[in-house]
Amino acid sequence: MILGIDIGGTFIKVVGKDENNNIFKEKISVNFQDKKTFVSEILKLIEKHKALKVGIAIAGLVDKKSGQLTNSPNLKFLEGLNLKQEIENHSNIKVFIENDANLAAYGEYVYGNGKDSEILVCLTLGTGLGGGAVIGGKIISGVSGSAMEIGHIAVEKNGLPCHCGRNGCLEAYVSSYGLERIYCMLTEKKTTSFEIVNLAKNKDEKALKSFEMFSNYLSTGIMNIAHIFNPDKILLAGGIIEHYPDILEIVREKTKNLIFPLPLRDLKIDMAKLGSWSGAFGALAFAEGHSS
Ligand SMILES: [Zn+2]
Repeated sequence: MILGIDIGGTFIKVVGKDENNNIFKEKISVNFQDKKTFVSEILKLIEKHKALKVGIAIAGLVDKKSGQLTNSPNLKFLEGLNLKQEIENHSNIKVFIENDANLAAYGEYVYGNGKDSEILVCLTLGTGLGGGAVIGGKIISGVSGSAMEIGHIAVEKNGLPCHCGRNGCLEAYVSSYGLERIYCMLTEKKTTSFEIVNLAKNKDEKALKSFEMFSNYLSTGIMNIAHIFNPDKILLAGGIIEHYPDILEIVREKTKNLIFPLPLRDLKIDMAKLGSWSGAFGALAFAEGHSS
């Protein structure tokens, strides 16, 4: 059995593949308190499934040189830790760890809507805005392990504050908190992104306007990606797009007028296929791609 595990704040998603290529999926609710409960939960899974290899998708950056996890706001207690070494020391199997947005792109490339794509970029619209790219079948993780931080490219000089501490980042607008903020600016009402989606589905004028502004920023981000990478596919994933897929058509229309004709000609903007499971599938594919 090979396992792919996607670590979330309250749930972990597990995808396993046995020697007959049968795939199973499992969602487990967790309550990580510290490094110890985290490691023991992973070890329990390895033991339960008799895993031979395991891939792990995690929010945060894995420093390529030291192997340490950095910038992981939801798993602060794991920062500075070399998780790969930690888990390998307590088991006798190989562990492969990568950033969750990078692995979401890889999951779509191997198992989802990005198969056969030459240059694939995947954007995950959720609590934050994650980005990942797979070029020629390889994850682009950068020299240090911090490439594709698309959420933190600047789209407004002196714009709204981002969770990263900077201002005007794409994520400050294109994320659940970005959407909530846009809606609040238009209505002076505070509500959840979930509620804004419901309002938009019921044709509420201000909610539709919020999605219009949200999509303007997203289109600017997509334009920048298209002009840098000239990709054949950009996939949109994550809770917001899943619950309000109308964004896809809006963005397709808007980007037609933004992107140079040549990169536009060969670009397809589409939905991710694996939904919230792309990270776990990417972790599985990542472990499969390494020899033990
Ligand atoms: Zn930022």
